Amino acid sequence: MEEHLSNRLAKLRQSLTDLSDGPEESDTANLLVTSLPNIRYLTGFTGSSAAFLVSPDDCVIISDGRYTQQLSIECPGIDAFIRPMGETMNKSITDTMKGRFNGDFLFEQSTIAHNQWLELAESFNGKLIGCKNIVEDLRAIKDEIEIELIRKSVAINQTVFQEVCQWINAGTTERDVAAEIEYRGRKHGADGCSFEPIVAVGANSALAHYRPGNVKLNESPFTLIDWGLNYQGYASDLTRNLITGPVPKQYEEIYNITLQAQQAAIEAIKPAMEIRDLDTVARDVIADAGYGPQFSHSLGHGIGLEIHEGPGLSGRSTGVLKEGMVITIEPGIYIPAMGGVRIEDDVLVTASGYDVISDVPKAFK
Ligand code: ZN
Ligand code: ZN
Repeated sequence: MEEHLSNRLAKLRQSLTDLSDGPEESDTANLLVTSLPNIRYLTGFTGSSAAFLVSPDDCVIISDGRYTQQLSIECPGIDAFIRPMGETMNKSITDTMKGRFNGDFLFEQSTIAHNQWLELAESFNGKLIGCKNIVEDLRAIKDEIEIELIRKSVAINQTVFQEVCQWINAGTTERDVAAEIEYRGRKHGADGCSFEPIVAVGANSALAHYRPGNVKLNESPFTLIDWGLNYQGYASDLTRNLITGPVPKQYEEIYNITLQAQQAAIEAIKPAMEIRDLDTVARDVIADAGYGPQFSHSLGHGIGLEIHEGPGLSGRSTGVLKEGMVITIEPGIYIPAMGGVRIEDDVLVTASGYDVISDVPKAFK
């Protein structure tokens, strides 16, 4: 098994042992992993159907005949079980749990559908105990390999943005920009978009999660673009506001407040800081300027194998920032019928503070 994967597996086993030694009712250190991003993180497998069973001294990945060869390429050193044709995934899972492992199993309660749980519970003879975020909490702290992949994802994302800005002409629509980002991203080596790009001309930018339509960029002096790519599975996520002519006075005002809020939050980032306090730093700048209710979403989120992953950055967050987290900082202000501004960068939490991975210019002009 590759070294970074065995390190991740060792950390997971430590978490499971700590949990089984804890005061909770769970006394097993066996885990059934069904979340595909979690399976990819632990095994390197990128296919669309798999389960991963792990205990303190054993692990096995279960998939189907479409992936026999892929498993041998992507997961060298990890034992694979290919479910026989005509046998369900759930039967393969419970047969393996019973035949190869001892005792009860934890399962990932947020990625198992109720009907799958019913089937597993019916054919497994031990206890199935729901758990949350065991692997996700590990994923929130990126290792060196992951940080490099995110840096590369951000670099491609920025190149694509610069190229698309040069390419835009009088007839370009929101939809054209979204398509061009995906096309150029793939040409530059990305797997595709990490989410559907948001390209919002003029007043459309007041909708924080607008879907691109047929409006032309030259119909307004400003356009919000929120775009991201995946590179070898790792997401980038940036937002900029293209300004191409004289804007309403209020737009310039909310632009400058949003930028000030974002910079204040970035400069406040340091390990051990309460995450909700970071959200407050940005929120206070916007609220003090009179736009509190118009900052209608959280400050940001972790990025990695998923576009939205831990830690969430909001007033409800209970954790602290930790070295190795990669987070977005993306305050915004949205004025219905006028327009909105959001400025988003990707930031690594370091031992001494922060490292802003992205560097697309954002000064108002
Ligand atoms: Zn975004
Ligand atoms: Zn984001």
